Amino acid sequence: MTRYDSEAALVVVDVQNDFADPAGSLSVRDGAAVVPVLDAEIAAARAAGATVVYTQDWHPPHTPHFAQDGGIWPVHCVQDTWGAALHRALTVDGPIVRKGANGEDGYSGFTMRDPVSGTTVPTELESILRGRFVRRVIVGGLATDYCVKATALDAVRLGFDTTVLVAAIRAVDLEAGDGDRALAELEAAGVELDRTEPTLDDLHAATVADTAIRAHASRLRARSVGPSEPADPAPAEHGDRP
Ligand SMILES: [Zn+2]
Repeated sequence: MTRYDSEAALVVVDVQNDFADPAGSLSVRDGAAVVPVLDAEIAAARAAGATVVYTQDWHPPHTPHFAQDGGIWPVHCVQDTWGAALHRALTVDGPIVRKGANGEDGYSGFTMRDPVSGTTVPTELESILRGRFVRRVIVGGLATDYCVKATALDAVRLGFDTTVLVAAIRAVDLEAGDGDRALAELEAAGVELDRTEPTLDDLHAATVADTAIRAHASRLRARSVGPSEPADPAPAEHGDRP
């Protein structure tokens, strides 16, 4: 992978349990499949000196974004719940931008909509990227037809050279074909669609790094808790990866 350098930023959109885990309240079909692909991208980006930024839907228990409060979505990604947490296998190595914390609506990692005034308010994502002199934005995560699309459209509107990693996204497809229509819309707006499939070597390198991090964390826990701590079963989780 040679798409990264110090002027590039990988934006990892909403890889949270409610979207990525089959038990999540707004689970995206095959959503967990983006995790190993993104882990490989994150490793490549960090090795090349690129910025990695994560977005996280971070809703209060009530927001006009939810069906129970007049919106369209089931309750999801409520602050400090399991559903809002980033997927356990995702490598986190960079700042996290939380959106919707004050009840704002919207999908983009760059902007939110104030539910009372209807005005668009920025998140801190753009200032993080400008502060690091980023010129190119690479986007992956969930979901293609909502937050990935809105984030990539905002990135291109803000003047960033923008690429979406097709292997690292999945669609909600509320209506059949929504994901494909989103890709067409992105392309029409000037976003590059990178359809490269990650190689087994890329995925393996990310898995090895991930397993090493888990083993290290497990040793640290064992040291602080004492020998009664059960062995960490984490490596078995890789069995459900493609
Ligand atoms: Zn949301």
